[in-house]
Amino acid sequence: MMLDPLALTQALVAQKSINPPGDEAPIAQYLKGILEPAGFSCQVVTLGENRASLVARFGAGNKPALCLTGHMDTVPLGQAPWSRDPFGGQVEGDRLYGRGTSDMKGGLAVMVCSVVEAIKRHPQLELVLVITSDEEVGCQGAKLLWEQGHLDQKVGAILVCEPTGNLPDLGHKGSLWLEAICRGVTAHGSTPELGVNAVYLAAQKILVAKDLDLGPERHELYGRPTLNVGSFKGGLNINSVPDKASFTLDIRTLPSMSHQAVKDWVQQALGPEVELRWIIDAEAVEVDPKDPWIEECLGLLQARNQEPVPQRGGVYVTDASVLWRAYDRPPVMVLGPGDFSEAHKTDESCSVSKLYEAQEIYLEILERWARR
Ligand SMILES: [Zn+2]
Repeated sequence: MMLDPLALTQALVAQKSINPPGDEAPIAQYLKGILEPAGFSCQVVTLGENRASLVARFGAGNKPALCLTGHMDTVPLGQAPWSRDPFGGQVEGDRLYGRGTSDMKGGLAVMVCSVVEAIKRHPQLELVLVITSDEEVGCQGAKLLWEQGHLDQKVGAILVCEPTGNLPDLGHKGSLWLEAICRGVTAHGSTPELGVNAVYLAAQKILVAKDLDLGPERHELYGRPTLNVGSFKGGLNINSVPDKASFTLDIRTLPSMSHQAVKDWVQQALGPEVELRWIIDAEAVEVDPKDPWIEECLGLLQARNQEPVPQRGGVYVTDASVLWRAYDRPPVMVLGPGDFSEAHKTDESCSVSKLYEAQEIYLEILERWARR
């Protein structure tokens, strides 16, 4: 009997893994409990208190493996009240409700159900599943797996099961998040001439950041780089001259942009009086649309949908930012059953029929991988 993607998604949604704190370890153990009896060799990698990632391998290791990847953590529930139980896995019509249904316990469940079925049909498959913790705050779980030497095998392609509504994204942009800190000298609010106001300095620098020109380059898959000042903090109380203010920069980069070079360039534009700190550094993933595996996947999707599949890349970041580099830059396709527009929302949901459709797509991709 085939494992059921809906039932498994509901089981994963019921296991709370809001990051922070994450608490992914019980889910890693739970998935090991499915994959190990099926024939996978599983390694649960502990990454902190009640936190773990799971690397599951299948095959003799003679040929490059297909890597399938997904993360177990979810974002918090947010301020607004939910109208359904976020951990209840309630189904209404074609919608399954709960935190992580779209991003991305649905994708994770379909991935596990599909590989367990595929290795029965094609025992010659070579697979590695990288099931991560701590993705939502900058791919930290994947980075630790790489640093600790767990991403060491030969991988021929990466399928990222993040939410795309079952349409393919060929790689994605990078995310560079920086904090800019401005310092001044505090004084009593009645004698501002005795101090240096850090909020004024930060306000000037924010306007410099707003007008930074990231260049005219437009990538055929990823479009243009973007920059946004997302938050500002400054001052302690109304009657003091503030001696510290800071703001954050969210820069979405193209594959051609080195994050160190971008940071150096921002530093130069803002001047030496601004201290720049890294928050998130996840570089872009570049994919050649003419790669044979990509062409094969696009071909099978085109045949299924009976219409041309748009060639596009993602504007978001996934763990592939780390995995692509660790595995020596194989082709990367992001395709999963969740809806990207549902990710991180109140009353998050996913389409039940898309779970089953994704399972059919994954099984076709796995069948073709087995024939290599
Ligand atoms: Zn995600």
